[in-house]
Amino acid sequence: MSGTWEPVIGLEVHCELKTATKLFCGCRNAFGDEPNTNVCPVCLGLPGSLPVLNEGAVELAMRIGTALHCEIRPSVFHRKNYFYPDMPKDYQVSQYDAPINVGGRLELPDGSTVGIERAHLEEDTGKTGHIGGEGGRIHGAAHSLVDYNRAGVPLVEIVSRPDIFSAAQARLYAGELRAILVASGSSDGRMEEGSMRVDANVSVRPAGRAELGTRCEIKNLNSLHSLARAIEHEIGRQVALIESGERVVQQTRHWDEDQGRTVTLRSKEEAFDYRYFPEPDLVPLSPSADWVADVARSMGPMPADRRRKLTELLGEAAGGRTDQIVGVVEKDLEGLVEAAVAAGIGPALALARTANEASANPDGAREVDPISYVTILRLEQEGLLSATQAKSVLATLLDHGKESAALVAKLGEKGTPAEIAARLGFEALGDDSTARLVSDAVEANPGEWARYLEGEAKLAGFFTGIVMKASKGKANGKVVAAELERLKG
Ligand code: ADP
Ligand code: MG
Ligand code: ZN
Repeated sequence: MSGTWEPVIGLEVHCELKTATKLFCGCRNAFGDEPNTNVCPVCLGLPGSLPVLNEGAVELAMRIGTALHCEIRPSVFHRKNYFYPDMPKDYQVSQYDAPINVGGRLELPDGSTVGIERAHLEEDTGKTGHIGGEGGRIHGAAHSLVDYNRAGVPLVEIVSRPDIFSAAQARLYAGELRAILVASGSSDGRMEEGSMRVDANVSVRPAGRAELGTRCEIKNLNSLHSLARAIEHEIGRQVALIESGERVVQQTRHWDEDQGRTVTLRSKEEAFDYRYFPEPDLVPLSPSADWVADVARSMGPMPADRRRKLTELLGEAAGGRTDQIVGVVEKDLEGLVEAAVAAGIGPALALARTANEASANPDGAREVDPISYVTILRLEQEGLLSATQAKSVLATLLDHGKESAALVAKLGEKGTPAEIAARLGFEALGDDSTARLVSDAVEANPGEWARYLEGEAKLAGFFTGIVMKASKGKANGKVVAAELERLKG
């Protein structure tokens, strides 16, 4: 892409709320049930039926608003009128100019902040399945079937401000939003099941100009990977159009994952096309100040807060390790880092083992006995286990999950770390044997040794690698380094 263009992106995210029942009726809210079994006159839009608002859905919407630092306001439901076969009422009950959550922000792991315009409540539509065509597409299909189980499931639509400036940042935003939805208990955030769906509005403008360019909205982004790819592609398409003297036309476009391109779906509809009007069967919604305060009090810390806390704990060791910190918080494992640091393990080691070994087995790691976990880290820190050995012991320990305490206890909590290591069968290689392996490596590679003596310091890694291989990872790296220094004289 040409450097003279700046992409601008705003995301609209729909998420299904984790309520037991639908937004306006008592039908079950469940994914994957037998089609058309969770339906009733209300969600089928039969004449004479009346909606009753689900209090639990309102509470979850408020949780999302609180997590996103929105203002929770009195709101009004509107009918958004359009025809679609999977929407039995021919209108969708949504919120229009008076949404429940207004203003707000989301902090991303890279330190940037994206503004939130609003997060409003609405009902989901049903689902149409096309039969007989290729890959479930309508094109070439013999007939279509409609499943109304999803019709009336509560949704919150979260609309960002156009504060996102690259495909990578859009991906971070969607990932962070998903983490918040899950952490606040509002949604399960499963993109593959459609419980979180992202539309991306993309425009480009000459770098440095404040005015926004004409946008296209891309639908059908069902993974973070597709989201980033589709935006990247759309930016390229718009820049090419403008550079060839044409104009971007405001449109809704469909992302074709197989072809790796966006294609025109329809020209952009305007608000007036929907003939919004207040839903006459529902009263305005006005949560009491007490309710709003109760919701705020009941919320645990959000991922950004937890990353900040972990970063503070790590101090200098946090520098340049954002990815590890994000990963540990995402997997809910900062308790292990805290236990290790509290027991005197160096923050960098505590973070590294938790971000790598513990994160590789998150289920085991959530159940592991922290004292046992820290014991192994201490053995490594004291040089009684090489890094390779410590990783291997940790893998075994994590596999034992709940029984890890018993495992370490069986090995004998008593005794020095060296004795425990011996019982684990992972005693580090003695210094003498290590020294012998170092001199073997030097003798076998005279050319490299000569260059090392002449000052090619990075060859230390070459010799260490040989020694590690020969010792099957049992040698202590610090001893190898000291031995190389000693031989150098
Ligand atoms: P609509 O209701 O028609 O979808 P909105 O004004 O609610 O339009 O905006 C929808 C989304 O599009 C928001 O996330 C907003 O940030 C984003 N957006 C608006 N204008 C632009 C633009 N020129 N470029 C990129 N994103 C935009
Ligand atoms: Mg839109
Ligand atoms: Zn129903």
